[in-house]
Amino acid sequence: MRKSVLPKQSIYQLIGSFVLRHWRAYVLSALMLVGVAALTVWVPREVGRIVDGLVGGQLRGAGLWRELVTLVTMGVAIYLLRVGWRLQLFAAAYRLGVELRTRLYARLATQGPPFFQRSRTGDLMARATNDVDAVEMAAGEAFLAGFDGTLTLVLVVAMMTLGVDWRLALVALLPFPVMAWSFWVISRRVHDAWRQSLDRFSALNDHVQETVAGVRTLRALGLEPRAGKEFGTRTEAAAAAGLAALKWEAAYEPAVGLTLSAATVLTLGMGGYFVWQGQLSVGQLTAFTMYLGQLIWPMFAMGWVLSLLERGRAAWARLEPVLNEPPSIEDRGTIESVPAGPLAFESVSFSYPGRSAPALDLVSIELAPGQSLGVVGPTGAGKSTLLNLLLRHYAPDQGCIRWAGRPIEQYRLSALRAAIAWVPQEPFLFSASITQNIALARAEASRAEVEQAARLADLHHDVRRFADGYETVVGERGVTLSGGQRQRVAIARALLTDRPLLLLDDALSAVDTATEARILEHLRAARAGRTAIIASHRLSALADADQIVVLKAGRIVERGTHDELLAQGGWYAAQWRYQQLEESLNAA
Ligand code: ATP
Repeated sequence: MRKSVLPKQSIYQLIGSFVLRHWRAYVLSALMLVGVAALTVWVPREVGRIVDGLVGGQLRGAGLWRELVTLVTMGVAIYLLRVGWRLQLFAAAYRLGVELRTRLYARLATQGPPFFQRSRTGDLMARATNDVDAVEMAAGEAFLAGFDGTLTLVLVVAMMTLGVDWRLALVALLPFPVMAWSFWVISRRVHDAWRQSLDRFSALNDHVQETVAGVRTLRALGLEPRAGKEFGTRTEAAAAAGLAALKWEAAYEPAVGLTLSAATVLTLGMGGYFVWQGQLSVGQLTAFTMYLGQLIWPMFAMGWVLSLLERGRAAWARLEPVLNEPPSIEDRGTIESVPAGPLAFESVSFSYPGRSAPALDLVSIELAPGQSLGVVGPTGAGKSTLLNLLLRHYAPDQGCIRWAGRPIEQYRLSALRAAIAWVPQEPFLFSASITQNIALARAEASRAEVEQAARLADLHHDVRRFADGYETVVGERGVTLSGGQRQRVAIARALLTDRPLLLLDDALSAVDTATEARILEHLRAARAGRTAIIASHRLSALADADQIVVLKAGRIVERGTHDELLAQGGWYAAQWRYQQLEESLNAA
């Protein structure tokens, strides 16, 4: 069922369309290159004339100086034009890097949990860095080196055949087809080696990302040596693959060297004979030998272009599927805002991809606007799944979720999510101050509003104890908050947004019962008249809910108010008695 939204594009099409869009930079670079090439092939002719002039004795004094000044001027002009084309071209190629990274980021931002469950962070990071660099080089260096190399080749060969002697050129160029064949063989090996190298680099990245993220667990279990060994193996593997690619690339140069040596031997043999026969001047033979030297660059460029293109192709083969991956949830809705109205699950069933057992099985719930719903049940019963479907992280396999009478798919995804404040089981804090974390979705909120939200979340007193108060930086580069503090920052964040529907997914599991009760009390007062769905293991948190459903293996097995459920004498009643007993034992 998974198919690409965009037609598959080859790296050549990608670069082609990029070049068309930035044709000015490319044309300007190409013009400068034409200047460089024309001047470069003119130099041997100039030198040949000087040599013949000197040998014949016609060139001396002011005339000789003039010729030498012309030569130096040509050299300086070549230098300036070379700098110019490089600046033009690389500025354009960097733009391709920026475009690709922006596209990649935009695509990742539209992906939901199913995509990130399949993909690995380190691998995605490798694609955004290494692979984009490789494609960028194929569009920059490779493109222009290819153009420059071909141009120089054509001009040099033209000068050799038309400007010196076509018979000599024919013989001197004999070894070149052999070189072309060896390039073709080498380039295929280089491609495979680069592909493997990029894959292994990804695997290494994954390993580093995971071990750094889980470093405390590894250390606590004394697993650092094992992780270190694994790291060593992966680094070795990545380095070996990179080295194999470089080894194959290194084969280009000897191929060029051998070809040129053979060509020089043929030139000197045949050219010497022609000079002896008086059919060629010494100056012409000198110029011809210099032209042979000038073939080094086009030959080298060919090898270089091939290896850059192979690297680019291998990288593009890894990037393209991510760039073309359709969003895991289609945003086809057109309604721009969610009006007030009841919320209904109508016979909703859902299984996670690759799992046969349903995570939700024919779940039906009706919730009037402003009501609160408690969702309870043993671990793995489907509580979080219920909230995930409401947030459209996943789509139901069967049934329908309606809000204000319409299936939620009819609302724009952004509109739907803007109507919901969701506090997940494990909230994420960014490396920023507590204020910035609380005001994440409302950056314009005043300090008083942030503090008010923190008070409602029972966080204010904790924050005041930090040396920098609300400016304390938390997350990866700051203070580590306790699990309960993190959860309360997330609650404050949700409260500050003040959205019509609040979803708490076991969001107070890390705070004690009294704090939880206090926060819920605040929530009830602050959000009176607004809808809330609260999933929790602790039944006391939900006793005041307008409705409670008990989920077991994805099915609703009990439903009612707290009192009704106690009267039913089922799982809820037994669990309630057990938790009450536990509370009283803890209090004793
Ligand atoms: P808990 O109280 O432990 O948080 P829960 O009631 O919230 O549990 P869910 O997280 O909704 O339970 O999970 C319901 C079932 O779906 C479980 O069997 C779980 O293993 C499975 N499940 C949850 N997330 C995924 C996923 N991303 N991929 C596959 N299966 C999943």
